[in-house]
Amino acid sequence: MVETKRRHHMALRVGVIGGGQLARMMIAPAVELGLDIRVLAEGEGMSAGLAATAVGDYRDLDVVRAFARDVDVVTFDHEHVPQDVLRALVAEGVAVHPGPDALRFAQDKLDMRARLAELGIPQPDWAPVRSARELQDFLDAHDGRGVVKTPRGGYDGKGVRVVGDPGEAADWLDGLADGEALLVEELVPFVRELAQQVARRPSGQVASYPVVETVQRDGVCAEVIAPAPHAVERLTEVAEEIGVRIAEGLGVTGMLAVELFQTDDDRILVNELAMRPHNSGHWSQDGAVTGQFEQHLRAVADLPLGSTAPRSPWSVMINILGGPSEGSLGDRFESAMAAYPEAKIHTYGKDPRPGRKVGHVNVSGEELDDVVYTARAAASHFD
Ligand code: ADP
Repeated sequence: MVETKRRHHMALRVGVIGGGQLARMMIAPAVELGLDIRVLAEGEGMSAGLAATAVGDYRDLDVVRAFARDVDVVTFDHEHVPQDVLRALVAEGVAVHPGPDALRFAQDKLDMRARLAELGIPQPDWAPVRSARELQDFLDAHDGRGVVKTPRGGYDGKGVRVVGDPGEAADWLDGLADGEALLVEELVPFVRELAQQVARRPSGQVASYPVVETVQRDGVCAEVIAPAPHAVERLTEVAEEIGVRIAEGLGVTGMLAVELFQTDDDRILVNELAMRPHNSGHWSQDGAVTGQFEQHLRAVADLPLGSTAPRSPWSVMINILGGPSEGSLGDRFESAMAAYPEAKIHTYGKDPRPGRKVGHVNVSGEELDDVVYTARAAASHFD
């Protein structure tokens, strides 16, 4: 018999870089799958601290290398590990999923736009801009308005600005180093935002979730409805096809989330990508046969993917944000649980700072109106 170097999956060690809530939510499914999960956390007391076997700076190759030495596959809670660190690991034979060649398109929005253009994926008009003159030219060609983005490091709407004049992006333009550019996009008159989740294994198997509707408030995901209401078959198919083409075209391994705009003439345009479990997929923890955190682990460990079928006709996810409210978060969780036993309430173990995501509520059921009502009522305990 040929000796295989691959461990039986029960002994596979998965290392997650980053100790936030996404890593935390991989822990329970890892235990269920029999995987040995280890986390490299940024500091003590992080959300995923209970699986943290190391604490250190993910930008420091020595720290990451030492962590990677004791695991069979490395994956992520976020996209911020630098390319040179990732490439050094790969060169040393570490299995990294998603790998640096895929991840760079989730790290840099200009690289993403250029690559999606090559693949012929529908997206907003865009351009790299280095000066007020170039930005003005783009605005002139797009009814005087545009959305300027810093290509790297943005999240929850930080690094995104709607402008009608180059002066509104002057600080960002002035801050550009040689060779750097900002991204400008047409202001898409979208009727709603959607998200498509796809999982892909290194050996090629893919599985897609039903497309969902996402509602943002102040640039932060507030609610998700799964599947997207009033989604005609064509829309569902187009979203899935876009997700699969991106996963395959970019060589993504693990979970991929594709944020989409739907326009009033029913075009679907790609906004941005995340190569990890994503807020728009949290509904699947309780609303699908295989939740996205389990699916991500299966995918990065190259295990057979699970069914993505919904368990109920409708699921709604509502984020719980920290606020200036009185009373401890623990009391609020308890009162929401008591009032709405049908709601699944997830907590991240984080201190509640205003606007910070500290948990979410998932509710599933037969009637969308009832599901929305219950999810909002349960979430209102945290207002
Ligand atoms: P982040 O990386 O901070 O999540 P996004 O690129 O997803 O930033 O943009 C945040 C939000 O800004 C989007 O969810 C959408 O509501 C709005 N937005 C972004 N790009 C455009 C665009 N080209 N046209 C219209 N709205 C946009």
